[in-house]
Parts: sequence; C-alpha cells; structure tokens
Amino acid sequence: MNYTSEEGWHHPRIVPYQPLTMDPSAMVFHYGQTVFEGLKAYRSSDGHVRLFRPEENFRRLNQSCDRLCIPTVNEEAMLDYLKEYVKLDKEWIPSEPGTSLYIRPFIISTEPTLDVSPSRTYTLMIILSPVGSFYKGGIDPVSIFVEDEFTRAAPGGTGNAKTAGNYSGAYKAQNRAAGHQKAQVLWLDGVEKRYIEEVGSMNVFFKIDGEIHTPALNGSILEGITRKSVIELLESEGMPVRERKISIDEIIAANESGSLQEVFGTGTAAVISPVGGLEYKDRDYVINNGEMGETASWLHETLVGIQTGELDDPFGWSVVLER
Ligand code: PMP
Repeated sequence: MNYTSEEGWHHPRIVPYQPLTMDPSAMVFHYGQTVFEGLKAYRSSDGHVRLFRPEENFRRLNQSCDRLCIPTVNEEAMLDYLKEYVKLDKEWIPSEPGTSLYIRPFIISTEPTLDVSPSRTYTLMIILSPVGSFYKGGIDPVSIFVEDEFTRAAPGGTGNAKTAGNYSGAYKAQNRAAGHQKAQVLWLDGVEKRYIEEVGSMNVFFKIDGEIHTPALNGSILEGITRKSVIELLESEGMPVRERKISIDEIIAANESGSLQEVFGTGTAAVISPVGGLEYKDRDYVINNGEMGETASWLHETLVGIQTGELDDPFGWSVVLER
C-alpha cells in the first residue's frame, strides 16, 4: 500500500514476494524514518487460524507512526487486509507445536530527497514467514547482561516506538553481552542508569516475595502486547502486578536475600522467557537456581494455550479466521 500527500494511503494489493526497486536517495536509507510491528498467526489442532490481539499491533503501529511523523493508517482496514492476506497464505502456517506464521508489517519513507524533514511519500508492506519453535529442546532459562554504559532509550526519545534506530542502536550492547556469553541485554534507564527498563526485545517481570512486579511504562519502554496480556492474565487470577520503578540495586539485593524468586521476559517471539542468571558490574548472579519458576511456567502454558486455541480464550484475544 502507498501513501502520497495528495491521495493518502491507497492501492492496497497482494503481490508475490520480490526485491524492491528504490531510489538511492529515498529518505528511509538516510534518516531512518520507518516503523514496524511483529505478530503471529497460529494454527490450532482443529485447523483454525488465529491472530493474537492484532488490533493492538495496529494501535501500536499508529503510535509509532505518530512519533516518527509518518501518516497513521486505518486500523480496522489494516486488520481486514491482514485477515485476507493470511487466509491466502494459510497453507504456509505450520501446525507443529510452537510453530507459527510471523507477520511483519512495516512502513518506510520513500521520497527521493536528501532534505531532513518528514517524507511526503511512504510504502507500507507486510511480509509473512513461517517460523519454527523458539524453544527447540525445551525451555532453557537465559542469562542476561546488565548494560551500564549504553542506553536504549532516553526520556522524550523514540524508546516506546518500534522504529529501526532503537534496534541498530542496541547492537553494540548486544555484542558486548554476547562477548560475556549472555543471551540478552538488560537495559537501564537513560538518565541515572539505575532503573530497569526492558530485556533485549522483551519486557521484564520480577517475582519478589510472591508478588509480581514490572517496570512502569514511562515513555521509553516499549508497550509490549505480551506484557499487557500477562498483566491482565495475572490480575484475572487475583495476582495484581505492581507496575513501578524498579532499580537494579533492589533486584540484586532481593536476589542476595533470597526474596527474588523469578525473573522472566515477555514478547511475541518467545512468549515467556525465564531468566536464570544475570551479570552486573563483572559479577554473576544465579536466579532461582538457574531454573524456570512456577509463575513463568504457568504463564507460558496458559498464553500459548490461548494463542493456539488449545485453551479457552475468556478475554477474546484471538481473532479466528473463517476457514
Ligand atoms: N520490547 C522491545 C524493545 C521489543 O522489540 C519487543 C518485541 N516487540 C517487546 C518489548 C515485546 O513486545 P511484544 O510483547 O508486543 O512482542
């Protein structure tokens, strides 16, 4: 689908996957005016195809568009287009447990000019790709590296937008974490480098003395759809989640005193990813004996069950496509 200032968003179409031809001065190549989303379609054992909370992705896409001065899209129309598109490609959706069809909507600015100002033309595309199970040989808790030099997001910046620069800006820390044999970066706030924001491409939760805590949204943390679902799910079970500022020192102290019971990340890719170890200022800490905790385990089972249609969906989160 294309956008011009004269016509607005127009000409939605489905075309075979193919390389694009673009002007070398297209603005996206130079100034990164681009946004994206990520969601999944699942096939359940009864053959139905389900999208998990897709309206939330289009809402967040528009929120990112607004931050990057990209014209917003009609969320209802986008959902209708996506349903048609996924239905066409539904044979591609694997049915083995843990597999799904990954859906990547994205918008790029295309005006051919080196001017530093919002583009007047854009292209929106959606690519679909079957993905295997995130966990091949069972769920293995990850170790994380607390990054205390680079930050992912600053107050007033683009941290809560899904835009390219936030991800390429994270590579340096990602490489550093990998050099320390850690799978993910734990990001701290961009001012005091003290308050926890998120983990790699996941939001993060802590179980302390039986209560679940997560960093409160502050404009620089991505508003994860899995995060929102976890909060709603736990609340429906009478376990309110405390959304607040959480410092890294508090977590280290809670781990030392034995009151930190679980740490886990939430995101579309892994759904729930338990954290078994943490490195901070050259010290390694083991969390929950390096094992997955009962809350993470229950959340994983329940969310995956709802997403794949194997469990009831009392929240009405899944959009079930007609066969
Ligand atoms: N934080 C970041 C930076 C991310 O890229 C993602 C993945 N979209 C998340 C958190 C988790 O968000 P969601 O649950 O919507 O996948």
